[in-house]
Order: sequence, then structure tokens, then C-alpha cells
Amino acid sequence: MHVVEGDMLLDDDQLALYSLQKDAIANMQLAGLSDAFLTPKLVGLLQGGKVVKWEPGKVLTYCVLRNTFLSNEDYKLMVESAQKAAADWEGACGVKFEYVKDKDSSSSTRPDGVVFPFRGIDAGGAFIASAFFPNDPVNRRRVLIDPSFFSTSLRFDRVGVIRHELGHVLGFPHEHIRSGAPAVCPDEPLGGTIELTDYDPASVMHYFCGGVGTSELGITEIDREGAQRVYGAPYSRSIFIQ
Ligand SMILES: [Zn+2]
Repeated sequence: MHVVEGDMLLDDDQLALYSLQKDAIANMQLAGLSDAFLTPKLVGLLQGGKVVKWEPGKVLTYCVLRNTFLSNEDYKLMVESAQKAAADWEGACGVKFEYVKDKDSSSSTRPDGVVFPFRGIDAGGAFIASAFFPNDPVNRRRVLIDPSFFSTSLRFDRVGVIRHELGHVLGFPHEHIRSGAPAVCPDEPLGGTIELTDYDPASVMHYFCGGVGTSELGITEIDREGAQRVYGAPYSRSIFIQ
């Protein structure tokens, strides 16, 4: 296990995938897709030259594994934060999350019947939370939450942290890996990514580094624009004819 990003633990398989994806942007440019997609530019994931996203209409079901949280207060705070953050993304682009409360009492860390669980785990503060990308192996589909998430001295907005993690779940890597970001921001492999919008120092996907980033981790107008390039307009703004 290599820690490449603060909150995205990449295992050997993923590192291999990243290196395979290195030529993807070049291939897209060759295919003439760059101008249409790169201007203006949020960061998305590429696999085989194609943008990685959940299938249209996919309902991203989740639960909050009650017994993995240290107290009932933490569990309730987790449920609330997840619901608010999910609603914020649903208001920003065409994605649908659904909380499956019945699965909260599951004794499995990978309960059937949900796409992913929120699971409390003591990471010793190595991260506040850790998520996954849509093209990660199915057994990595979980959002891990360290006890520091519930600390009164948490320096981020709590719902904002989950907005950020759900951004990864939707397929958005970190904003601060881009060339326009301050040099002190952590480096990560840019291979297999695509810039969906102009560099946005206030992005929900930007770390707090180099004097930029926000502790609120809100979804900005630019994030919204980038997310809609991938997922379209919010479902609440459409009438679906069958
Ligand atoms: Zn992150």
C-alpha cells in the first residue's frame, strides 16, 4: 500500500492503472477531443481515453455502518453529514444518491444491497476520510472515516469533507494536482486525468495548501460546470420521458 494522496490510499493495482493511463490524454488530443472537452476545464478520470463515470440513472446507494462508529452521536453526525453532502451533489449535477438505512445494522463491512458503506475506522489520523473512484475494484467501494472527523477541532466543514469524498466517488480527483496550483500542494500522478474546467483554487476538490483551498469545501460554480460536463444537469431540473 502506497500513500500517494492524503485521503486516497492507492494500492499496487491502482498505481499500475495510473501508469497505464498516462497516454490517455495524449490519445484524446490525437482523437481531436481535447478542445471540446478541455475548455474551460474540475479534474476528471480517464480510462482508455474515455471519461470515467457512473452509468446514467445509476442510484448510488449507501449505508452508514452503525457499529463501526464509536458512539451514537458520531453515527448520527455521520448520517446527517452524508445526507447533506449527497443532496449538495444532487443539486449540482445529474447524480442520485440513496441512503439505505436498513443496512446500517449490517455486521458485514461490505453489505450487499448498497453500492458503498460509510465505515468508521481508526486510521490514527493518517486521513480524516478516504474514498474511492468509480473504476476502483468493487471491494474498495467504501468511504472510511477516522475518529478525527468528529473532533471539535476539525478544521474543515464536516459536511464539506463528505462533499469532497463524494466528489472522488463521482470520479473527480484532486484539484490541487494541476499545474496552476501552488507548488507546496501535494503532488499526485496527473496521468489518466482530464481537466474539466479552469483551475479553481476554491474547488471542493482542492486541499487546504499554499494559501488556497477553502475549509468550507463547498461546490463552486466552476465545480458545478465541470460536474455537469460529465453528469449533465441535476435530475430535479429535468422531466424524464420514457
Ligand atoms: Zn481527496
